[in-house]
Amino acid sequence: MKAFSYERASSPADAAARAAQIANARYIAGGTNLLDLMKLQIEAPSHLIDVNGIGLDRIEETAEGGLRIGALVRNTDLAADPRVRRDYPVLTRALVAGASGQLRNKATTAGNLLQRTRCVYFYDPNMPCNKRVPGSGCSALAEGAVSRQLAVIGTSDACIATHPSDMAVAMLVLDAVVETVLPSGETRVIPVADLHVLPGDTPHIETTLRPGELVTAVTLPPPIGGKQSYRKVRDRASYAFALVSVAAIIQPDGSGRIALGGVAPKPWRRDDADAALPKGATAVMERLLAGARPTEDNAFKLLLAERALAATLAEAKE
Ligand SMILES: Cc1cc2nc3c(=O)[nH]c(=O)nc-3n(C[C@H](O)[C@H](O)[C@H](O)COP(=O)(O)OP(=O)(O)OC[C@H]3O[C@@H](n4cnc5c(N)ncnc54)[C@H](O)[C@@H]3O)c2cc1C
Ligand code: SF4
Repeated sequence: MKAFSYERASSPADAAARAAQIANARYIAGGTNLLDLMKLQIEAPSHLIDVNGIGLDRIEETAEGGLRIGALVRNTDLAADPRVRRDYPVLTRALVAGASGQLRNKATTAGNLLQRTRCVYFYDPNMPCNKRVPGSGCSALAEGAVSRQLAVIGTSDACIATHPSDMAVAMLVLDAVVETVLPSGETRVIPVADLHVLPGDTPHIETTLRPGELVTAVTLPPPIGGKQSYRKVRDRASYAFALVSVAAIIQPDGSGRIALGGVAPKPWRRDDADAALPKGATAVMERLLAGARPTEDNAFKLLLAERALAATLAEAKE
């Protein structure tokens, strides 16, 4: 690990202002992703701004009847919150499907949304990777590469990595909105749907956050009911990232919303696919995965996603 300096922020606005003052500073929340990347020198910040202890760890009801989740709320606490369990069960299920109990005790709401890809070539500093070193090439697209875990849609010729967060998929299906503060002190809101960006020819740019912008909260709209589920298919029963995951909210009349994880560089959803829900899983996937460009290694994800959705829809009818 390279040497770095460290400070504790005193408020969200102070954290954002400090981030703008110091070149190559990073926020640290639970540290479960950032510290791993620093140990491998994939990330080498000069300075860490600790955003724990600045009042971002509360879950509050909004005037509209939704929930405002502080950026520092731990994944364990969010999953266990009685209001989340009752009104947003898709979120609880996605959270408990992720990582391990110990990691969830440290991992935070904002850190989870902003964690970086788990592409094995990104984690190997000896291999070319456009996301890690822009312009160096993509090892996952090289002859003989292992791309089983990687994306089938939303990819580019520069990068086929997936976004690894389970929670983000549930947040997307719930139409959650991210709140931030900028170094200028201004605040803004970003729908989760617009937070992550596709790789194009700049895969190192992963979100629409501006330099120094601090996520302060994620807001859930008022509950919409329906049968909510999160189905995650992975190589091991636990402690593994999704090959494919399906976040679903199905209403009694068969309408609803679907988002997928494990298939794209961002949590994946399309309005026209939601509209096809009454026609069944095949019709939904025709729209949701239209234009997919799988590799030979991961083409199985197309059928896996359809079957996972079919099982979800069958369960919703029970
Ligand atoms: C072995 C292992 C298995 C895992 N399995 C899963 C899994 O199955 N599913 C899953 O979803 N996740 C999984 N994870 C990932 C884990 O959930 C993330 O590491 C965690 O959620 C990151 O949260 P954190 O608070 O520790 O983030 P940190 O590591 O502190 O930060 C992550 C990034 O977010 C930035 N950041 C943090 N807070 C803010 C903020 N408020 N505003 C702006 N930027 C911020 C940091 O600067 C950093 O770039 C796994 C991790 C490990 C190590
Ligand atoms: S898929 Fe993306 S993250 Fe993985 S090696 Fe290629 S450029 Fe890097």
